[in-house]
Amino acid sequence: MDINPEELLQQFASDNYAGICPEAWAAMESANRGHATAYGDDAWTARAASAFRDLFETDCELFFVFNGTAANSLALASLCQSYHGVICCDSSHVETDECGAPEFFSNGSKLLVAQGVDGKLRPGAIHELATKRQDIHFPKPRVVTITQPTETGRVYTLDEVKAISAACKAHGLLLHMDGARFANACASVGATAAELTWKSGVDVLCFGGTKNGMAVGEAVLFFDRALATDFDYRCKQAGQLASKMRFLAAPWVGMLESGAWLSNAVHANECAQYFAKRVAGIPNVKVVSPVDANSVFLAAPDEVLEQLRARGWRFYTFIGGAARMMFAWDTDLRRVDALLSDLEDCASSHTGVVGPAVASSVQ
Ligand SMILES: *Cc1c(COP(=O)(O)O)cnc(C)c1O
Repeated sequence: MDINPEELLQQFASDNYAGICPEAWAAMESANRGHATAYGDDAWTARAASAFRDLFETDCELFFVFNGTAANSLALASLCQSYHGVICCDSSHVETDECGAPEFFSNGSKLLVAQGVDGKLRPGAIHELATKRQDIHFPKPRVVTITQPTETGRVYTLDEVKAISAACKAHGLLLHMDGARFANACASVGATAAELTWKSGVDVLCFGGTKNGMAVGEAVLFFDRALATDFDYRCKQAGQLASKMRFLAAPWVGMLESGAWLSNAVHANECAQYFAKRVAGIPNVKVVSPVDANSVFLAAPDEVLEQLRARGWRFYTFIGGAARMMFAWDTDLRRVDALLSDLEDCASSHTGVVGPAVASSVQ
């Protein structure tokens, strides 16, 4: 099959533009030898589960599903009754990018949206939403969900996660973490997976494999096993029980046993830092948000962004209004340099200055 070589060039629109990392690929290949029992009753699935329990230093219950929307929605649905509410940030993926799946799978649990700062939910906002209405006419708050790192590339520190957890405990709420890029958060904070989750009060984690270097797959980890009751049935009913489960599980074995889950994230984060530092020297372009993980948000005049697109670069501007550059596990610094050089060319030929309206659109 012929593919236009231009199509294969590395882009920074999303970390899910990248392919499969060698460790995940090799494990898939090994899993492709011979037959194995279906529906998760196989050696690869057992080995992946034990690798997760080692990494998280706890005997958690866990499940493998195909994507992040399913992981988040089913996890939240399992924590809620239909009359419950889920407190989340206004920019959260569950609110803005899952097509109502959390409400659908929970049979109507309402997302209770708080205005965030840098995509972060604050303990004060949790307190406000948890106490605003306590009458029977409003959904009863039951869960708080936070995204780590946030959709705007910020990372909750250990203390911030602990403060959120304290607010949850004060109001009898459970804490869910959307960790589509959880590995990037671990790399950024320099904390262990355990410290960043259950040791800081997280009850359920959705750990993203796709953006970390796998073809497909997310893990749902329940640190309190009681919360996982019947989750297997929920997965099956939602069409998320893989019959050839070993192909969802094996890549995790490759990622976790080799340490690629973390080294991939470290590399991606470092590339974001590399890019952001060099953008700082380019006129008419501003990095608008601190770079904690593997994304960099840029404000630049529309004409500059249009020119950059005309040169073949792809990126999104729908998240917070700025241009997002996202660095994946396989980021090639020569491609980053090519982007920087095109950005500099386009921006230096521009005569205007970056308008404050653009620069302030991402807080
Ligand atoms: C990518 C992403 C997900 C998962 O999205 P799917 O397309 O359903 O796999 C979930 N949360 C966040 C914050 C994401 O960036």
